[in-house]
Amino acid sequence: MTLDLPPLREVIARHGLSAEKALGQNFLLDGQLLARIARVPGDLSGARVFEVGPGPGGLTRALVEAGAQVIAVERDRRCMPALAELAEAAPPGALRVIEGDALAIDAAQEAGTGAHIVANLPYNVGTALLVRWLGGESWPPWWASLTLMFQKEVAERIVAAPDTGAFGRLAVLAQWRATARIALPVHRSAFVPPPKVMSAVVHIVPAPAPEGVSFRTLETLTAAAFGQRRKMLRQSLKPVTGALAALETLGIDPTRRAETLRVEDFVAVARAIDRR
Ligand code: SAM
Repeated sequence: MTLDLPPLREVIARHGLSAEKALGQNFLLDGQLLARIARVPGDLSGARVFEVGPGPGGLTRALVEAGAQVIAVERDRRCMPALAELAEAAPPGALRVIEGDALAIDAAQEAGTGAHIVANLPYNVGTALLVRWLGGESWPPWWASLTLMFQKEVAERIVAAPDTGAFGRLAVLAQWRATARIALPVHRSAFVPPPKVMSAVVHIVPAPAPEGVSFRTLETLTAAAFGQRRKMLRQSLKPVTGALAALETLGIDPTRRAETLRVEDFVAVARAIDRR
């Protein structure tokens, strides 16, 4: 489906949507790129999508054109008239816009179980929301998948493998009960205005949670291990009750450093701690 709407540049000019640095606004205007991002979660026809930070609505258009029912939350009031025009041009009920702060609203309540989350967000807000969406004891989560734009370095930390400098808390958080991949690198020149850094779209899908491990223990463990990543585990894990005994039980050499352990090793250590 192609919506009958003027080009995004025209929408931005007519509504005076000059990009505000304070709101982390870097807009995407290339329809082909936006359509590629909208394809990352898979077939969206009839699916619900929770979009954070639609701005002038480029990605929102692509999502609606892919057949999704979009619930979008945007904190910049200036974008509301442009988004209202988009809702008007979309099939009935295909777009609901919420004016507000994504960090303050209950996304699960607004979008409902099974929604796909898609966002091109300011990087600080994106990371805070990612950590929130990946956290907690309850799994599988309410969302079906995450398709999120990040600064390239952050994207690399999310999908990082052990024995690399990028491997750390974010990788363990994203990979212990989900699969994470870089779906699409995005050149800085694709944005208006272009940011200083390169970007990438990350796609995350929930996987079965390993049994017998609490999120809280895994988080305590990784915080300690990577809080002092240059230190040996026997030093960095000293404050975590039961961690050194768990290393011994599992035959993990305590002179190793955190970044040499695999995600499964962290899970095994956390499980052994929880068993005590
Ligand atoms: N999605 C549009 C695009 O791809 O062109 C805009 C992307 S721009 C990088 C980020 C958008 O997120 C802006 O429109 C900004 O106003 C909005 N935003 C920033 N912080 C937000 C928050 N806490 N809650 C909701 N929207 C936010």
